Amino acid sequence: MSEKKHISKKELRRRKRKRMLMIKTGILCVLLAILGIGIWALAGGTEKIQQKAQEKEDQKTAEVDGSVSSDSTGGSTDAPATKAQIMAEADALAQTYDYDGAIEKLQSVEGAATDADIITKVAEYTSTRDACVRVNINEVTHIFYHSLVVDPQKAFYQDNAQTAGFCQWMTTVDEFKAITQQMYDRGYVMVSINDLVKKTVDDDGTVHYTEGDIYLPEGKKAFVLSLDDLSYYHSYDGRGIASKMVVGDDGKPTCEYIQDDGTVVTGAYDCIPLMDQFIEEHPDAVYHNARGTVALTGYDGILGYRTDGDYKTREDLTDDQTAWLDAHPDFDWDKECEEAKKVADAIKADGWTFASHTWGHIRVGDKPLETIQADTEKWLTYVAPLIGGSDIIIFAHGQDLSDWHDYTMDNEKFAYLKSQGFNIYCNVDSTQYFVQVRDNYLRMGRRNLDGYRLYQNLYGGGEDRTSDLFDSSQVIDPQRPTDPSLYDLG
Ligand SMILES: [Zn+2]
Repeated sequence: MSEKKHISKKELRRRKRKRMLMIKTGILCVLLAILGIGIWALAGGTEKIQQKAQEKEDQKTAEVDGSVSSDSTGGSTDAPATKAQIMAEADALAQTYDYDGAIEKLQSVEGAATDADIITKVAEYTSTRDACVRVNINEVTHIFYHSLVVDPQKAFYQDNAQTAGFCQWMTTVDEFKAITQQMYDRGYVMVSINDLVKKTVDDDGTVHYTEGDIYLPEGKKAFVLSLDDLSYYHSYDGRGIASKMVVGDDGKPTCEYIQDDGTVVTGAYDCIPLMDQFIEEHPDAVYHNARGTVALTGYDGILGYRTDGDYKTREDLTDDQTAWLDAHPDFDWDKECEEAKKVADAIKADGWTFASHTWGHIRVGDKPLETIQADTEKWLTYVAPLIGGSDIIIFAHGQDLSDWHDYTMDNEKFAYLKSQGFNIYCNVDSTQYFVQVRDNYLRMGRRNLDGYRLYQNLYGGGEDRTSDLFDSSQVIDPQRPTDPSLYDLG
């Protein structure tokens, strides 16, 4: 809307200037005629002036629009802008190690084959690409976080049954920032979990996987990121954690945080916007502009929106769900789902993918098949439509469908989840790598980067299990309580 207005104003200004120029020219001509000097030659001169003015206007418009019309009459003056723009876009691709994409982009410049600048750049990208090393997919590490703690006082120092849980499972904003920076400094590059495999699909829908082709410069190491439980459960209320994901003014996903005085602020209070900020400042932190995977349960809704069916029917409510509904008498379930979907769309547009974390945060290893079936049906009914479905499942409580041996179709839980469209399976495993690329699935172990891990690394007496990624002593938040019993120590 505002852009249109802006352009039409500009157009009006341009026409006004053109009119003024013509009037001035007219007066000049009359004057010259009176003086008896050759008018004919001068008409050509003003035409040139007019044309020049027009060209300048066109150029300005192009700069403002960020677009340059290729059919413009001043082709020769427009070309450099177009080329510079394309070269900048190519450079952005090359920074994320997408050298083929960068080269292809450069080739779209008119006359690329004979343009010296383009030839030089193509050669540069080609040699950088050719020097890259193929990533061993079986040595890609996978890290994960829960929602980040913005206010450690609230998360860790409220004395109740949940305190140890917050101390162990949560990571603070400062810890996340320090870990992200250290991993970057050590050459870690985030890749999408989907890039670990090449996927082919038969006519009947059967999925086949082989190892993906990821190439990175020598010394760089690939890692995958996932985020668990981005639901902003009722149990997080008042614990110094963001309250929900929202769409920012720039169309990108960001967070809402409720301050002590009850006022709501918007900003980077959790992993998604913080990671986005980091990538904006360090485009080479990610491969092909990859993002992480967000694992969602459904029982308290998703992303801070109370979208589960129980909020609609008002049946089977927990105490905190009832309390929340009582505090929100204007609650409209359909509107809530609409909002959640908008936010999910923005998160996807930003490059993140979604996964199931089971609807009820259930223990898939312990529970019978019937429980998994009922749970999956709920997830597919109340979560999948809001996020556009997913073929990734990240198990809760670090459980799995079997031990580390390959899944087989004899495993009825695996056979069931496969039949429901899940192809990628993740557990929790503190070893550096646990990757299984098999014909019909991809399976990965994930490492928890949380208070439990940091404390065990520093004071557990065993080996530091994340020393390949960062230095725990430099990362740990000094605001954490030091009582070892809170971290399952002593
Ligand atoms: Zn979880």
